[in-house]
Amino acid sequence: MGLRKILTDKEPSLHKVCRPVEKFDHRLHKLLDDMVETMRGANGCGLAAVQVGVLRRIVVIETEEGLFEFINPVITRKSGTQEGAEGCLSLPGKWGKTKRPKCVTVEALDRHGNKIEVTGFDLLAKAMCHEIDHLDGILYTDKVIKMLEADEVE
Ligand code: ZN
Repeated sequence: MGLRKILTDKEPSLHKVCRPVEKFDHRLHKLLDDMVETMRGANGCGLAAVQVGVLRRIVVIETEEGLFEFINPVITRKSGTQEGAEGCLSLPGKWGKTKRPKCVTVEALDRHGNKIEVTGFDLLAKAMCHEIDHLDGILYTDKVIKMLEADEVE
């Protein structure tokens, strides 16, 4: 296990489209373990592989519902809307108000290449949208309604 350096939005790689994972080997498992440790070390609730410099379609998310690892995730359903504050480990100290779906279903593969499907509401739905956007080089600041001052964040 090991902490990886989180890239900031000044890095060109954060704006690139990531490639699908093809090998479900121990290198992938090590990367996933490192990503979870790095996310927890930074007090985040989500991290995409591109944020640690790996341009592959890999996401980890941790909410009250548990820890999720998504390989090659695709959003298959979304419904409703929610508005609220959103931040990103690659934009430390910044927050913005965004509009996201209230409910999102994601199809993906797990670390062994097995198909999984997860439906999430509220924070989990928002995190899934945010992290999957990273895989296409999109940051929340690309779709923010307005940036917030620290005292406006709940
Ligand atoms: Zn982010």
